[in-house]
Amino acid sequence: MLVSFLGTGCSAPPPGRGEVCILLDDGRTRILLDVGAGCYSRLAARGLWLRDIDAVYVSHLHIDHYGGLGEIIVDALIKGYRGSKPLLLAGGLEPEPVLGILPGRGRLLLKPRRLMPMRPYRVGSMILEAVPSVHSVESYAVIVRAGDGSMLLYSGDTRPLYSVVKDFEGGLVVHEATAPTNMCREAMETGHTCVEEALRLAGMTSAATALVHLSTESLRELWLRRPRGVLVPGDDTDFYL
Ligand SMILES: [Zn+2]
Repeated sequence: MLVSFLGTGCSAPPPGRGEVCILLDDGRTRILLDVGAGCYSRLAARGLWLRDIDAVYVSHLHIDHYGGLGEIIVDALIKGYRGSKPLLLAGGLEPEPVLGILPGRGRLLLKPRRLMPMRPYRVGSMILEAVPSVHSVESYAVIVRAGDGSMLLYSGDTRPLYSVVKDFEGGLVVHEATAPTNMCREAMETGHTCVEEALRLAGMTSAATALVHLSTESLRELWLRRPRGVLVPGDDTDFYL
């Protein structure tokens, strides 16, 4: 599976980065994991638009995780698209608030589905499973099994998912690292993960680990610490899983 990091920043992303948006492509199916601001232009730069996407997974209802969908939908309306792809998959949640930010006709281009936690759901050649996480609002990580046998865990926004990562025997863990280590307390209070916690988590799994949802401060700390074996992708980084 090709994992393309189209956006890797938090709600106040580091300069030059967009909000979080990850594209999965196993050759038969394409899924977006969260759609923050900036996602549309990265997608368009690859020649892709709404019609090319099979499903959009939204981990929780904070605007930096679905606000980029508006541009993608408007683009599709301008192109005269009348199809009903993609599925809009809200992990464990009712997806209506996501539709609420879209222009009227644009809502018809998405088929909303609520993903029941811990219950596998097939989209084309991929199988998704929403996993409850720990954030300031109800939030769900997701495990994706692709048609080619590769597996990925995406955390969304959450406190460190130690117990999930410990037992994860897939190829790539994509975990948030919003706060620098000197703000671990704030991360705890707001339901996020700090760099120290994210690196501890990376050490618990044999899977590769990529850190996203970065702030300027957490990115700077990672640059200084240069942790071995941990991927700190930029926007537009491709990872072949
Ligand atoms: Zn959030």
